[in-house]
Amino acid sequence: MQLCRFNDDRLGLVQGDEVLDVTEALQVLPACRYPLPRHDLLVANLEAVCAEARRLAQRGGGARHRVADLTLLSPVANPGKVIAAPVNYAKHLQEAREDSGIHHQNQIGEIQRVGLFLKATSSVVGASAGVAIARPERRNDHEIELVAVIGKAGRHIPAAEAMSHVAAYCVGLDMTVRGPEERSMRKSPDGYTVLGPWLTTADEVADVNDLQLRIEVNGEVRQDANTRDLVLGLPALIEFASSFYTLQPGDVIMTGTPEGVSQVFPGDRMVAQISGLGRMVVDVRTI
Ligand code: MN
Repeated sequence: MQLCRFNDDRLGLVQGDEVLDVTEALQVLPACRYPLPRHDLLVANLEAVCAEARRLAQRGGGARHRVADLTLLSPVANPGKVIAAPVNYAKHLQEAREDSGIHHQNQIGEIQRVGLFLKATSSVVGASAGVAIARPERRNDHEIELVAVIGKAGRHIPAAEAMSHVAAYCVGLDMTVRGPEERSMRKSPDGYTVLGPWLTTADEVADVNDLQLRIEVNGEVRQDANTRDLVLGLPALIEFASSFYTLQPGDVIMTGTPEGVSQVFPGDRMVAQISGLGRMVVDVRTI
């Protein structure tokens, strides 16, 4: 099942080029009171929401829209953590080490040594928000990444069990200001984590190690690669991340970007897609 969030926090069931409004399915969510849970409520109850959405759809559902007419929001409204993998494709490690515009005299170590990093959750937006360039005097790059959304909490999750903790996937853009600062700062301006276009539940992804990622900027292909070339695959990333912190439903894991990262400018249009997960159009703008 593919579920999107759109317009004023509506929930939609994606059916080809159309979206069926199934916002009523959110009524299965438990009521929350302060202090709010650390997980995302929808993702923590995804199976119940999907079952209700399916039931609503069989009865005809609500309004029907064309995808192109909607304002797409981040499919995860309240991720507790945005975990990200640096240099997780060998060819990207090579380009980062060779290009001073990428490394800025930072030492680019292998992921097994430097570990993972966190992006501010306030950086998360959906496709329609676009990306406002935060530091126009710097190089600002796109990084397309496969994103996994955790569905079941866990700590010290062995790689062999990791996939049972994944609820869904989406396309991600780990937008990046190049420079000397820590990754967590350079990759966390508002809007620098684009998630979308929607959630695709894990049961619909046959092989997470064989997904084609592709991003075009103004019609020109910049990154075109396959998740089979990940240095640490998703199970290893989940084992690594959960050895440091408890993963919660709605936590997002950005699995790293392949080679081909490049600068974008206000006015550019990025089209990012991953096989089976959808295609999102993201415009670059000034503030
Ligand atoms: Mn990245």
